[in-house]
Amino acid sequence: MGQSVLITSGKGGTGKTSLTAGISTCLCALGKRVVCVDADVGLRNLDIALGMSERSAFDFMDVINDPGRIGDALMAHAGIPNLRLLPAPTGLSPSDVPHEAFKTLIQRLADASDYVFVDGPAGLSDGFELAAGACESAIVVASPDYLAIRDASRASQMLAKHSPVWLVLNRVRPKLVRMRYAANMDDAMDSIGLPLLGIVPEDEIVMAATSRGVPVILAASTGAAVSYLNIAKRFMGIRVPLERIKVWKIGS
Ligand code: ADP
Ligand code: MG
Repeated sequence: MGQSVLITSGKGGTGKTSLTAGISTCLCALGKRVVCVDADVGLRNLDIALGMSERSAFDFMDVINDPGRIGDALMAHAGIPNLRLLPAPTGLSPSDVPHEAFKTLIQRLADASDYVFVDGPAGLSDGFELAAGACESAIVVASPDYLAIRDASRASQMLAKHSPVWLVLNRVRPKLVRMRYAANMDDAMDSIGLPLLGIVPEDEIVMAATSRGVPVILAASTGAAVSYLNIAKRFMGIRVPLERIKVWKIGS
C-alpha cells in the first residue's frame, strides 16, 4: 500500500504546487508510481505545474459521486510514465466536499500506487482540514521569510497526528540569508520544529518551465531541478547530502 502525503504551508505562494509537481515527477523518474491530487478546490493549478493543462472532463468530485469514473478522471502524463493527476473541482468550496468520502478516495488511490501527493490550499481552515484529514504524512513548505515561517509553524502544530512530517525550505536566496533578511536553515527548523527534507533555491526555471508547460525536471539539470530530485531521493530514504545552493539568479 502506498503513502498519502499532504503538501501544505499555511501561507499562500510558498511553492506547494511547484513542489508537488517537482517531487512527483522526480519520484516517477526514480521508478515510482505516483498520483497527484489537486486539493485546492476552486483554485486548482497543479495541472499547469505538471504541464497537463489540457482540459480534463472530470475531477475528484465526479469520482466521489460515482466511484466508477475513477478511470476516466485520472489523467496520465504524456511524457512521464507512472504519473497521474486527479484534478480539483472548480466552482465548489471545500465545505461542499464530504471529508470522509475524500479520505476514502485518497486511500483507494494509495492502495494502487506508491505515493499519493495531495496539493493543499493556502490557509489553515476548511480546505486544509479536508486535505490534511485524508493524508497520513505531510511536507510543510516554507519560504525563509519570517511571515511564511510563522504560518508554517502553525501548520506544523496542526499536523500532530501525521507521521512523518517534513519541512522543505523553498525560494532560498543566499544573499538575503547572509543579510539576515531571511531565516537560515537552522533558525527555520528551530522555529517550525520539523526535520529538513530539503532546500530549493529561488530559480527562474520554476516559473519558466511552468509557463512552457514542461515539468522542471525535464526543463533543467541544475538549480531547482537538482533540489527536487534530491528531495525525492531523501523521501525514499536514500541518503543525499544537502546541496550547496549556487543558483540564485533572481536578485543575486
Ligand atoms: P503555492 O502552491 O504555495 O501557492 P506555487 O507553487 O504556485 O505556490 O508558487 C507560487 C509562485 O512561485 C509561482 O509563480 C511559481 O512559479 C513560483 N515559484 C515556486 N517555487 C519557486 C522557486 N524555487 N524559484 C522561483 N520561483 C518559484
Ligand atoms: Mg498552489
